[in-house]
Amino acid sequence: MIDEARRCVGKTKAGVKCNIIMTVDTPEGPLCRYHRDLGPGRVRSPVRSIKSVADIARLTSWAAVACAEGRLSSSQAIAIKSMCAEWRLADGSGKTAEQTVRFAELAGAVMRVPELAEAVMRSDDNAVRAARLALRAAIGLDK
Ligand SMILES: [Zn+2]
Repeated sequence: MIDEARRCVGKTKAGVKCNIIMTVDTPEGPLCRYHRDLGPGRVRSPVRSIKSVADIARLTSWAAVACAEGRLSSSQAIAIKSMCAEWRLADGSGKTAEQTVRFAELAGAVMRVPELAEAVMRSDDNAVRAARLALRAAIGLDK
């Protein structure tokens, strides 16, 4: 038997009584976890589950601002960053990004060796020329 007096007295977005039974007594009456103040140092993420890179972007954007405003500790922000990185790796989108970063590092290293850089710039190989032109366009050298 549910004790009706224990039901949450908070209002839903639709404006009706919440009625959740898992409540804590507060000065405003029994309130569920959605309607209670979270208290100092406790925040509610804007993302309930991570299903896409867009969710990662929303969560990390929120975490950055919450951390900057002092609502989130830096260790909490670092934990969020770490978990988002894990999710991206598990999802595969992170693998592609990781491989892209590694390839860009290799290209950067190659371009710091004058002999290699010159070989790349002077190459008349079609694939090398096409990649060179695409990179020039991507970084705006052709404007
Ligand atoms: Zn409630």
